[in-house]
Amino acid sequence: MLRLFNKIRKTGMVTETIAVDSDLQALGIEVKSVINKRFAGSFAIRAVDSGSCNACELEIHALNNAFYDIERFGVHFVASPRHADALLVTGPVSQHMAQAVLDVWEATPEPKWLLAMGDCAVDGGEFAGSYAVMGGIAKILKPDVIIPGCPPTPEVILKAILGLLHNT
Ligand code: SF4
Repeated sequence: MLRLFNKIRKTGMVTETIAVDSDLQALGIEVKSVINKRFAGSFAIRAVDSGSCNACELEIHALNNAFYDIERFGVHFVASPRHADALLVTGPVSQHMAQAVLDVWEATPEPKWLLAMGDCAVDGGEFAGSYAVMGGIAKILKPDVIIPGCPPTPEVILKAILGLLHNT
């Protein structure tokens, strides 16, 4: 046991120091400022996968990791549409998810907004033309914000959220 403690002491910290991204910081501070003024400090999003390949979800996960840490800017991803201000839909609308997306939208209280994230949500993207999909989210609901990209980066998603906040 002592040998192990000595080894830990001699090795020290081996992880890299996180570099602060000043652009991200500035963007986040602007997001936080609008949320504080117009949403009492908290903006809640329910993510809905309507048939994506999951790469869009990985970018959403990145937004919540220790580097981007979007919660510090007042944006929270929530488990229930009943707690959400906005839905963030990823992927094309697959035939078997269309009704579920409509149900989630129905369950979200007013006022509410819809963000379409990724090329698939815009027009079907990689899956356009497949018998299993209807196309982009506009086939069943009108999105307020479109976030192109395959997948969009966390910065692009954050900028789109800021654009929505400015226009609500
Ligand atoms: S936009 Fe690209 S990353 Fe997102 S679900 Fe479609 S194929 Fe996957």
